[in-house]
Amino acid sequence: MSFLDHVLERPSYGWTDTSGALSVPSKRKLLGEFVSRLNVFSNRKNWLSFFSWFKVVALLPFFVFFVVFHFSWLFLLAGFLYSMVLMGTHGTIWHHRYCTHRAYVFSNRFWRFVTRNLSLKIIPEEIYVISHHVHHAKSDQPGDPYNASGGFLYCFLADVNHQPISRSLDEKDYNRVLGLMKHTGVRSNDFRQYQKWGSVARPSQTILHWVLNWGFWYGVFYLLGGHGLACALFGGAFFWAVGVRTFNYEGHAKGEKDKQRDGIDYNRHDNSINQLWPGYVAGEWHNNHHLYPSSARSGFLPYQLDLAWYYIRVLKLIGGVSSYKDSRKQFLERYHTPFVAGRRRTGGEV
Ligand SMILES: [Zn+2]
Ligand SMILES: [Zn+2]
Repeated sequence: MSFLDHVLERPSYGWTDTSGALSVPSKRKLLGEFVSRLNVFSNRKNWLSFFSWFKVVALLPFFVFFVVFHFSWLFLLAGFLYSMVLMGTHGTIWHHRYCTHRAYVFSNRFWRFVTRNLSLKIIPEEIYVISHHVHHAKSDQPGDPYNASGGFLYCFLADVNHQPISRSLDEKDYNRVLGLMKHTGVRSNDFRQYQKWGSVARPSQTILHWVLNWGFWYGVFYLLGGHGLACALFGGAFFWAVGVRTFNYEGHAKGEKDKQRDGIDYNRHDNSINQLWPGYVAGEWHNNHHLYPSSARSGFLPYQLDLAWYYIRVLKLIGGVSSYKDSRKQFLERYHTPFVAGRRRTGGEV
């Protein structure tokens, strides 16, 4: 059994059914698993999942305060842009392209720190990173932690039900997990502490980081626009934190196999598709990304806006990033240019 086959905590309903096909649990089973894996009283190793959802729920009162006491259309727009564009793009820059795929290298710890804290801290790095390696290794196969064929809820609850690392890794495999996380700068548990807490992240430092990160940003937003702006942006973050959990289902075409379009979705090894909205607000051109996962740019065609790529480029210009990978040239040479030439030859639309 390879490392990626057992690095994630197996759900009680398993990854496969008895015939080896994807195990598709009922909604009731998915919700039951979700509740049991958030229960910190039954098992303290549930702490990181619990804390992650606690942060999501803690954002909701800010939205209520905003609507009840401070509502303004301008701040609502600010909240929308902050959550959709800034937080969306930040997720791509930090969790996806840096922490998981190492598509670029920071020149020093300062820029890594700035980038990590560029928006409200919500998603724990290890829950995103380790499971995302499994996602690429097993896209749309059993074991894919957010396999879209499992249905909407299978993906929506994945960060609790399917993405946390296994609690029963041996020391060798735990060290391999640390190897996948080392460059992120997350302070990690040693093996003995992992056996106690079931996570890479240390509880005390994780909580301190959250308090400082949210405190800092609330202070900045307050200075810019009072409690009204601060509550609008924190409230907007609630909708992002919920909405982002729908991406993996949509980004793999809701499990449907015939959604990839000629001239747009060149990767046909899985069900991933390029979509305009996640592309424009977060640089997530997901079909392109599955073709070239370690590229710091995913928007390869002229209309495929990629704000995350612009951030990485700006950091390179000012010295915050020392190097990056860019697969646009290979993409054009191997896929797009031959496709366009073929269409021209046959007189079809380009
Ligand atoms: Zn994918
Ligand atoms: Zn990826």
